[in-house]
Amino acid sequence: MSNKKIVILGGGISGLTVAWRLQELGFQTEVCESNEFVGGLAGTVRPEDGRYCLDFGPHFFITQKQEIVERITDLLADDVVSFERSAQLYVQGRFLDYPLSAKNVLLNFPLSDAIASIITFVWAQLKSAAGYLIRIDSKTVNFGDWATANFGNHLAKIFFRPYTEGFWKIPCENLSPEIIPTSTRLNFMKSLKMMFLKKVSGPAKSLTERELVLPLRYPKRGYGVIAETIANRVLNMGGFIRQNARVVKVELRKDGKYLVKVSQDDNEIELNADHVVSTIPIPNLVNMMSPESPLIVRQSADKLGYLSLIVLYVVTTTKDLLDTSYVYYLDRPYHRLAEMDKFCDSLFPAGENMLAVEFSCHRGDEIWNMNEQDLLELALPHLEHDNIILRNEVDKLFVVRAGHAYPIRYLDFRKNLDTFLNYVGEHNNLDVLGRTGEYMYIDSDQCMERALVLADKIAAKLH
Ligand SMILES: Cc1cc2nc3c(=O)[nH]c(=O)nc-3n(C[C@H](O)[C@H](O)[C@H](O)COP(=O)(O)OP(=O)(O)OC[C@H]3O[C@@H](n4cnc5c(N)ncnc54)[C@H](O)[C@@H]3O)c2cc1C
Repeated sequence: MSNKKIVILGGGISGLTVAWRLQELGFQTEVCESNEFVGGLAGTVRPEDGRYCLDFGPHFFITQKQEIVERITDLLADDVVSFERSAQLYVQGRFLDYPLSAKNVLLNFPLSDAIASIITFVWAQLKSAAGYLIRIDSKTVNFGDWATANFGNHLAKIFFRPYTEGFWKIPCENLSPEIIPTSTRLNFMKSLKMMFLKKVSGPAKSLTERELVLPLRYPKRGYGVIAETIANRVLNMGGFIRQNARVVKVELRKDGKYLVKVSQDDNEIELNADHVVSTIPIPNLVNMMSPESPLIVRQSADKLGYLSLIVLYVVTTTKDLLDTSYVYYLDRPYHRLAEMDKFCDSLFPAGENMLAVEFSCHRGDEIWNMNEQDLLELALPHLEHDNIILRNEVDKLFVVRAGHAYPIRYLDFRKNLDTFLNYVGEHNNLDVLGRTGEYMYIDSDQCMERALVLADKIAAKLH
């Protein structure tokens, strides 16, 4: 056992996994989590003494990495259900496959839209073949131009632009093409190939491909069971996890080690750390650093914003609300509905069901400030119109909120992120990790992969 101690800011899946691996490698770890529960975005809250299990947007677990499969299988044993994810997209009064496929465009759009989509798509491909290709890694191209260059003008106009702006609530011109999740960078040609050949290959599969070939897993008492079980492993190996513990200051000492100040249950606690791993939002970390971070770093960090998420859970006894587990929407105040019965029926009492209604918003805006009844009133006219649920079928409401759900990859985010990462790179004993800490649009399995790699790197450095 090493006497070196690593303090980890944030007890989400990234923070807990890095602690787990470091404990296995013989280090002492202490995780500080500001919530009263662990798991962060991958957590589950259980109101009414655990009668209901509420995720921060319904999750499922999927991975291609053997080590992660083995760890998850070992963690969850039989407490998991496997299922096939089915999702639809509701556009212009029609249900389409999600993600949008070439088949949808050819068969489900009105003839005029299908023809215009194909002509402008082929034109865009010809232009790109002629050397005008707009690459995803370009620092100057905005999402709107990128979508037009890749999918053609018509599809960009009727689908990609309205969907993107409806979700992010930001004009496409201000967004980078890199707002697309790392695992979903699926181009239209690839989707055509998948549709006709039903064949997937290559080491870097997209989310769509991964979902076609890999089993999906969901823990019976909510997604948070994964993080809770990892937390138990950390504790059993002698690690320490503080909940309700908000990190307020990260002080670099003269010897290159850190003093981490934490506010827990109205007490101020000081923790000495040989190494610090931060998984918390970037602006929060930068503003708590001592000595104070340079002005340019603070200014850059403040521009790295996060989109917030509210999930309204509508409890009902009505079953079969949706035809698939998820439906994605354009032109609705919510962007996604999920029927929790289709994930697992042990998330609520027998005979009941829950509809998860997801609203993206910006912290402090009108939607963020709504209570559950306001949110229901906002959604209900559409839910009734679409024959999903009626007012008299609503028995109870719950709401969960995540202030930092999605890193917003603004057009110039890369410059600001690099400024921050260079600053972190100047600190020998500080690392950032995860979706929130590294500002990456990644899933929980990818967070775990990164955490395992980082733990090995820290161990090699500290030994
Ligand atoms: C709607 C939605 C659906 C998703 N669906 C899936 C899915 O189906 N499958 C999948 O694999 N992934 C999914 N994801 C992604 C997955 O949730 C994330 O990749 C993962 O949970 C990120 O974990 P993290 O630990 O990096 O960050 P976080 O979960 O954000 O953890 C950071 C932690 O830091 C804590 N914190 C913040 N400030 C402080 C402070 N000052 N002091 C102490 N603690 C602090 C926070 O409370 C939080 O617990 C989804 C995400 C969302 C938003």
